[in-house]
This record gives sequence, C-alpha cells and structure tokens, in this order.
Amino acid sequence: MAIDRDHTIAWMRRFAGDMAEHRQELVRLDTAIGDGDHGTNMNRGMQKALEKLDAAQPADPGAVLKTVAMALVSSVGGAAGPLYGTLLLQMGTAMAGTADVDQAAFAAAWRKGLDGVKARGKADVGDKTMVDALTPAIDALEQAPDLSAGLSAAVAAAEQGMNATTPLVARKGRASYLGDRSAGHQDPGATSTYYLFTSAAETLAD
Ligand code: ADP
Ligand code: MG
Repeated sequence: MAIDRDHTIAWMRRFAGDMAEHRQELVRLDTAIGDGDHGTNMNRGMQKALEKLDAAQPADPGAVLKTVAMALVSSVGGAAGPLYGTLLLQMGTAMAGTADVDQAAFAAAWRKGLDGVKARGKADVGDKTMVDALTPAIDALEQAPDLSAGLSAAVAAAEQGMNATTPLVARKGRASYLGDRSAGHQDPGATSTYYLFTSAAETLAD
C-alpha cells in the first residue's frame, strides 16, 4: 500500500471539505483564545488550493502538496497560513519525484514538515499549538507496522494531542497573549491538524 498522486489530491479535497464543514468550530475555538479567524483562514486557503490544483494538474504526490502549500502561503494571513505552508512544502519537497509514497517515505515527509514548522514557529510540545497534535501523530505513524495501521494510530494520537492542549497555558502564538487565561480551551491549530490526519486516513481507507 502506498500513496499516489490521486490519493494525495483526494486527501487535499477531503481536508478542504473538512475545513468548510468545521469552519464554525474552528472559529469558535479561535474566538476563545485568539482572534476568531482560524476557521475562515483555513477554509479560504483550502478553497484557493483546490482552484490551484485544478489549474496546475501536479504530476506526483510531492507536487500536489507543494501546490497546496503555495496557495496557503499566498492566501492565508496570520500564523496558520505560513505554518501549514511550511509543513506541506517541506513534505512535498521530501516526497519530490516519488510516484508511490510508502509508509517510511510518508512518515519521513511528515517528520521533515514538522521540523520545518518548529524551525519557523519555534514551538515545541506543550506550547499549545499544532505541534502538540503533529508530534505524537508522526511518532505513531513511524512506529506502526504498515501505512494503514500507521494512519489509524496517527489519528488516535493526534486526537489525544489535540485534547491534551486544553489544560495547557499557551506559550506561542496569539493565545500566549492571554497568559493563564488561555488554559481550559482546546487549541484551534491542533484541531485543524487533527482533521489533516483524519482526512488522510479516510482517503486511504476508501
Ligand atoms: P493567528 O493566530 O495569526 O490568528 P490562526 O488563527 O489562523 O492565526 O492560527 C492559530 C493557530 O496557529 C494556533 O491555534 C496554533 O495552533 C498555531 N500557531 C500559532 N503560533 C504558532 C507557532 N509559533 N508555532 C506553531 N503553531 C502556531
Ligand atoms: Mg486566529
């Protein structure tokens, strides 16, 4: 089992659908500890990404992710656009030229993407950001016996990481301006990251 170009496009379409479906949930979470734009940001960025995918017809999984990354960087203001852009650009670069991405290559690409997010945002686990969902999910994906088990484990780990952000005090991003008052709220970026994993797992299960 491996991830090809069509899987990758279907994954990005499904993620865009999730960002539209969960736009209000993400807005509500970001209203509690930020400026309330995360759902609209991600929805706008992914709609733009779908337009670009239709126009560009990228040839392989890496090119698909790079196309989406560029669309996010150019259309989404705020922290999440550049951070998701970095994640997907680094992933796409890691996969470059590979038609069928197996578990090891997929996990390695996620790892490179996470390294890029951490280099750019300077956040680590426990800072109440998308890094809290990404890190355990990628660990789980790396350790699983195969791709399908890896994606299931990654979804479960991302969900735990997302839930674990609730009691945390934010140390990075806009939510950190609230100090202790950021505790008791789930992080919006960790939540959209959870959907990035559920959409990948659901796409591969189809
Ligand atoms: P903004 O905070 O600029 O309004 P968004 O609302 O779209 O941007 O995104 C907020 C999310 O971005 C947060 O919930 C958090 O997960 C993520 N985030 C913010 N700053 C950082 C950072 N330095 N490193 C990693 N993730 C971050
Ligand atoms: Mg915001």
